[in-house]
Amino acid sequence: MTLSIPEAPATLKPVRDGRRVVNLWVIERCPYCGRRHTHRAGVAGVNDPRQALGHRVAHCVTKDGRLPDNPGYVLIEHLTPADRPAEARR
Ligand SMILES: [Zn+2]
Repeated sequence: MTLSIPEAPATLKPVRDGRRVVNLWVIERCPYCGRRHTHRAGVAGVNDPRQALGHRVAHCVTKDGRLPDNPGYVLIEHLTPADRPAEARR
């Protein structure tokens, strides 16, 4: 029997965490719930974030706060085109 697990393209986003910078894989649109999810990818410059790719539990949360009944997804690196808007927020 084959259970198909969808791929979820994710982009790497470094965020400050205290005095360190940690990487997050960001899924802009979850294949299940359509929301944005993030997965920790270790400390920037220390851990290889690609080791956090692969099959992961989906971070969808239902209204009652439980994890949904789905087989998760496979995190893949999303190669961003150069047309990303410059982030000039805040
Ligand atoms: Zn989701």
